[in-house]
Amino acid sequence: MLTVYNCIVSEHDLRLVALAALVCALASLTAINLLHHVGRADRRVWGIWLGIAATATGFGIWATHFIAMLAFSPALPTAYNVSLTVTSLLAAVMLTGIGFGVALLPVSAAMPWLGGAIVGGGIAVMHYTGMAAFEVAGIITWHPPLVAASILLGGLIGALALWVGLRSHTLSARLTGALLLTLAICSHHFTAMGAVAITPDNAIEISASAIPSNWLAVGVAFISLLILLLAFIALTIDLRERRRDSLEMQRMRDLTDAAVEGLVLCDGDTIVTVNESFANLTGLKPEQIVGASLAAWVPDRPKRDALFALPGQAVETELRNGEGALLPVELIARRINYNGIPHNVVAFRDLRDRRDAEAQIRYLAHHDPLTGLDNRASFDHRLDREIRFHRRARRQLALLCLDLDGFKEVNDLYGHATGDRVLQDIAKHFSSALGEGQVLARLGGDEFAIIAPLVTDPAQVGQFADTLLKGLRWEQEGVPAGLVSVSVGIALYPSDGKDRTELLSSADAALYRAKTEGKGIYRFFEAAMGAQIRERRGIEHDLRSAIANHELSLAYQPQAQVETGEVNGFEVLLRWNHPTRGPVSPTVFIPIAEESGLILKIGEWVMQGACREAASWMRPLTIAVNVSALQLTSDGFVDFVERTLNETGLPPERLEIEITETALIRDPNRALQSLQKLKAIGVKLAMDDFGTGYSSLSNLRAFPFDKIKIDRSFIHAVHINPQAAAIVRAVLGLGRGLGLPVIAEGVETSEELDFLGLEGCMEAQGYLFGRPAPIQDFVPLISESVVALSKPRMSAIGG
Ligand code: C2E
Ligand code: CA
Ligand code: CA
Repeated sequence: MLTVYNCIVSEHDLRLVALAALVCALASLTAINLLHHVGRADRRVWGIWLGIAATATGFGIWATHFIAMLAFSPALPTAYNVSLTVTSLLAAVMLTGIGFGVALLPVSAAMPWLGGAIVGGGIAVMHYTGMAAFEVAGIITWHPPLVAASILLGGLIGALALWVGLRSHTLSARLTGALLLTLAICSHHFTAMGAVAITPDNAIEISASAIPSNWLAVGVAFISLLILLLAFIALTIDLRERRRDSLEMQRMRDLTDAAVEGLVLCDGDTIVTVNESFANLTGLKPEQIVGASLAAWVPDRPKRDALFALPGQAVETELRNGEGALLPVELIARRINYNGIPHNVVAFRDLRDRRDAEAQIRYLAHHDPLTGLDNRASFDHRLDREIRFHRRARRQLALLCLDLDGFKEVNDLYGHATGDRVLQDIAKHFSSALGEGQVLARLGGDEFAIIAPLVTDPAQVGQFADTLLKGLRWEQEGVPAGLVSVSVGIALYPSDGKDRTELLSSADAALYRAKTEGKGIYRFFEAAMGAQIRERRGIEHDLRSAIANHELSLAYQPQAQVETGEVNGFEVLLRWNHPTRGPVSPTVFIPIAEESGLILKIGEWVMQGACREAASWMRPLTIAVNVSALQLTSDGFVDFVERTLNETGLPPERLEIEITETALIRDPNRALQSLQKLKAIGVKLAMDDFGTGYSSLSNLRAFPFDKIKIDRSFIHAVHINPQAAAIVRAVLGLGRGLGLPVIAEGVETSEELDFLGLEGCMEAQGYLFGRPAPIQDFVPLISESVVALSKPRMSAIGG
């Protein structure tokens, strides 16, 4: 080190050393700049540019060497061998060219190192060839370790110089690269000069053909000028390219800004540019993003690695926006050559809309859109899960099935919009009553269910059901309080069912019991209910085919004058003779037929049969037909009656339709419409079972009835039961007040009949006059001959 230092300071003209260093630096900067330009150049002109770069650098190295040699003043005559001097210049240019070519090969990241080392080798070859051209009046001896050190320094620093200089396009990288290349040349030169020792020897003559040193100075000056010129060319090229680059960048940005997706151009991990869409995604300005690392926006490292490992393949991950929030995005990376350097373009697709849509679909798949409650599918899933949990935990669970009573009426009377609002209202009410961990679902229509987990005492479930029921007694949506009520069936896991299906069917059985036992109440499942439900289903099933199988028949029961026993007409009563069960009572199968809707078909069959029968009678007796609420309010009922009358030829005034008061309550408007139309065509109307239902005077007034039938429960033992007697008297009084005739049904004894006669009741029906029987049993009554029944005898009157 010291030798080298001493060599520079004592044996050199320092001003010329500084000049050499300046020329060297200029050449190095030119070299690195031109090298970048070669890398970007077209294939066709690539070789030319490489040649220019090699020439500028090679000349630079050469000039540095010879200016430094001029600075080296051994105080002896010196000169330079022409051919070797030229050879040294050519060697410098060629080896630099090879080194640059290798450094730019895109095969591996190690190429700049290798190319740089070759350039370093070129410096050494140039130097030692140049030294061979050096003629001096003395003996030159060499210090081998320093020679080796000079070659090593040139090679190593040269390799580092190209790696740094080519690593990036930035000015700092270029400057550092040029500085290192200068260092490589200078350190090599002066270390090599340090290795030289000259012993003066006058015997040695300088050959005549050699160039004297002062001539060389001219040559060097010329070459230095050439370097300056080349440097200027390199600079203008660079400036032009930079302008072109920025234009190209602008064009590209305009293009990418038009893209809907966010686009990011990365050099390695560093963001070079982004489009508007990406900036919008992050909520920042493009300037705030450029220069940052991609990792700042895509925090998930494994996803980032996968993105670049598989170009062209979509990767779903999250984008951290300017506020630090994470947005779902889909990324696709592609490698492109941008400015001759491989870059990654990453496309960002905002997945928020897609995620929202997915969430919406998921929501719709699991919820009831009207009430927002869980739907059947998600309820089933939930119940299964809860049952599994309670099985493992050996705990008890309650399932409550809730069903609205009278909901159909709300829909019919107030419209579906009101019906929907009532459902929403009730759903809200149930939800607010829910306790910890309880789940409410709408299973469909007016059915709801609640899962109550971890039940310790079933009585608490009963209390819970009670609060659910009590809370409902208010007026909803203009629908009068009491019209809609809720029935609840409760089943417990594991006692009432081991799985979902069993548990649901038990809760259903309990619900059915609650409905039949009064509505608006709750019932726990009892083992016996299951059998009842099955029985009911069996009846419903068999009833469907009863008409076709000729299992139904009509029985007729006479209605007679209390005083004379003269028969006015008959009530027709349906009979079902089941093939295995035998006769099934209408009190059993009529409600089932009503609930299942079968009553519509059956009712038509009864009406047609009864009218045909009555029309065939010789005497114009009346025929009373029982009609259910469902029939009365069904579409086209009146038309059907009219058609039947026409078809059978029965005069309308002989047909009497019996309606119970409860049938009117369900849908009073429609019932009234039908009744008025029936009345208009001449059909008679009787209010059946009066006294058992609402027994309201207003109903009697509002509806166009022709007759009141006192329920048979009041007639039974009426002569010895003061309470029943009071009611019968009141009804008879009411009839008289309204001008409506009253008929007493269920008259079994003559005592009962006597009482009715004394109280002024005109008409009666019951076993006393005749049990319901096939019409054949009453042939004499319907033919001309017999007018009155022989059996009943008024004991009080006329005896
Ligand atoms: P309802 O309209 O009140 O019919 C009278 C019921 O009282 C009949 O019962 C009849 O057999 C019974 N009965 C008649 N006289 C006496 C008596 O002196 N003592 C006693 N204890 N009972 C007597 P049934 O035939 O079992 O019918 C029961 C109910 O079934 C009927 O009550 C009616 O509501 C319904 N029903 C019967 N047939 C039809 C029908 O064709 N259509 C509709 N919608 N309902 C029907
Ligand atoms: Ca009746
Ligand atoms: Ca009745």
